[in-house]
Amino acid sequence: MDDEYIKLLDHAMGQLPPDATSHERFVMVEALAFTEGNKTLIRNFKQLAEKAARDPKHMLKYIVNEVGTAGSYDEQAGRATLTGVFTKKAILDAIDKYVKDFVLCKTCGRPDTQIDKEGRQSVLVCQACGSTRAVQKL
Ligand SMILES: [Zn+2]
Repeated sequence: MDDEYIKLLDHAMGQLPPDATSHERFVMVEALAFTEGNKTLIRNFKQLAEKAARDPKHMLKYIVNEVGTAGSYDEQAGRATLTGVFTKKAILDAIDKYVKDFVLCKTCGRPDTQIDKEGRQSVLVCQACGSTRAVQKL
């Protein structure tokens, strides 16, 4: 490689807009989870679902499966209730997994996705890069 080529390369790298090499990592809203008697409440469930751009009921279904319990979503309060006592970490981990499996594009890492149906198969379609992948049916 001669010096002239390296200079050109340096120049080209300098021309890239900053977000072409690194994009903002998707940061989920922190779940406000706490226990009440023998139940665990997620007070800001609606905001969590909105941030993930997913149906709260879809997200809840995954979370209850993940921690192994039953739960319900109160649409008016925007709150989810799980049967049983769970640590905040267990809730956060389940939400993280949901985001990884059902929200983030595995190709470009962006959250600009939607879930479409192709026949009986659910497919995650990325609006940012156009890639698709099959997702588990809940
Ligand atoms: Zn993508």
